[in-house]
Amino acid sequence: MRKPIIAGNWKMYKSFDEAVDFIEEIQQEIPSPDKVDAVICPPALYLPTLVVAAEDSSLAIGAQNMHFEDEGAFTGEISPKMLSNVNVDYVILGHSERRELFNETDEAINKKIRAAINYGIVPIICCGETLEEREAGQTETKVARQITKALKDFAPVEVEHMVIAYEPIWAIGTGKTATADDANTVCCAIRLAVETLYGKDTAEKVRIQYGGSVKPENIEELLSKEHIDGALVGGASLQPASFMKLLEAAA
Ligand code: PEP
Repeated sequence: MRKPIIAGNWKMYKSFDEAVDFIEEIQQEIPSPDKVDAVICPPALYLPTLVVAAEDSSLAIGAQNMHFEDEGAFTGEISPKMLSNVNVDYVILGHSERRELFNETDEAINKKIRAAINYGIVPIICCGETLEEREAGQTETKVARQITKALKDFAPVEVEHMVIAYEPIWAIGTGKTATADDANTVCCAIRLAVETLYGKDTAEKVRIQYGGSVKPENIEELLSKEHIDGALVGGASLQPASFMKLLEAAA
């Protein structure tokens, strides 16, 4: 049995005070860590404060991106070593906004995953198709290719602790959600891609989230599907009440 994981991606939203208040409001209410892993990924500037704010609870804090090098002349970047220094547990890698707006390549994402694993940070690896690709029947090929490139050169024991997020690009922030059956079919294709690379045992352990306009009204149906092990959530993670409903549905 794979434990569900619900991760909130706050993107570039919330003031510092709003972020701290959010964590203080929910931290004592987080369902048991035996039942669900709960993660909030705030803007990078707030990470150290929120790690401390959440330290007496089972809420984990994650970054939304990082560089793959430990240090160097990379103006504006944050390294895996720095995230590890401030006890960040997770990092979202290869989000479609990073790929599309900041030209992140599959090769860079592979290096970032390697760096995260080396520092014991759990990567949440995003993949997904555009509407054009979906309409052309290329969804499964596209995500399998992204995952095959992202997961190049790891050991099975490293891969089994990773989290993959299937996020159809046309469903992110649009209010459109893939049907639970469609999302499950693609998550199954992703699991098969992992199986091809690292074997059935590893593929059965990897957790695969769905992301794309997940909200309290649709989470239960999504989570009822065999290959969907949680959700990566943007908009509905910004309010404590809706984030808590998502956690409760998964617990
Ligand atoms: C996301 O940011 O990864 C996401 C899925 O956003 P939303 O839930 O708002 O569609």
